[in-house]
Amino acid sequence: MAYETYTGVVAREVDTGEADRYLTLLTVERGKLDCFAKGIRKQNSKLASQSGLMTYGEYQLFQKADRYILTSARALESFHDIRADVVKCAYAAHILEITRDVVAEAQAFPEALQALLNSLHVLCYRDLAPEFVTRVFEIRILSLAGFAPVLDRCTICGTPVQARDSLGAGFSVHGEGLVCGGPCRGQASGRVAPISRGAVRAMRYVAECGAGEIFGFSVSKAVSGELANIVPEYLQYQLGKEYKKPGEAERYKAFERDMIKVMENGRAYGRRGGQ
Ligand SMILES: [Zn+2]
Repeated sequence: MAYETYTGVVAREVDTGEADRYLTLLTVERGKLDCFAKGIRKQNSKLASQSGLMTYGEYQLFQKADRYILTSARALESFHDIRADVVKCAYAAHILEITRDVVAEAQAFPEALQALLNSLHVLCYRDLAPEFVTRVFEIRILSLAGFAPVLDRCTICGTPVQARDSLGAGFSVHGEGLVCGGPCRGQASGRVAPISRGAVRAMRYVAECGAGEIFGFSVSKAVSGELANIVPEYLQYQLGKEYKKPGEAERYKAFERDMIKVMENGRAYGRRGGQ
């Protein structure tokens, strides 16, 4: 029997019983922990306001055998502005899902948690495209988890690739990174995507920079497009899982904007028609 306090992020909620919920916490101290939050869905629950999905906080857990029970919670950052935006929410959910998959049960992985928090913070408070934030996060988490792509040489023949940039080097999304032009390109299994020197530089920066610096750079629209063409597929291949595209929410929002416009135009037309 013991009480312990953990610092971390609520990464999943699963309702159970009449008013209870299981929470998956990603903690600094012990990696992924599932805990039981009794009565959290009752109207006057003190826990509810402090431990919503995505909230970073301090969580006191009571351990009984191999089970954790949430006894108190104190939110340090709830990322309110992400919750209020359907597109940001979709990207944040995607980022959370990947972190959940990469962080193991009861095994500290503070670097992964820091990448998660940096990304949620930027998504919430900085004016960067959610898709770009997500690509940066994906490259970083892959590197931390040991899946950093090879970006300085051809993964097939070993020749340094930077210098050969213009000779048709590409990125093997089902391989481990760069392939030089010529015969190596043909030997790569799966799709080989075109990649520019700028995209290579951006990926290397994110993979190798200091922990708090992953967003300390910017890229052109073209490079951002290249990353979108490469990174999600590389990530799915490396982690062996198909992730839902958070971009769906973006399309939904665009559709919603169009509908509002149509309705407003309709009203304006109606007013004119009535005069
Ligand atoms: Zn080669």
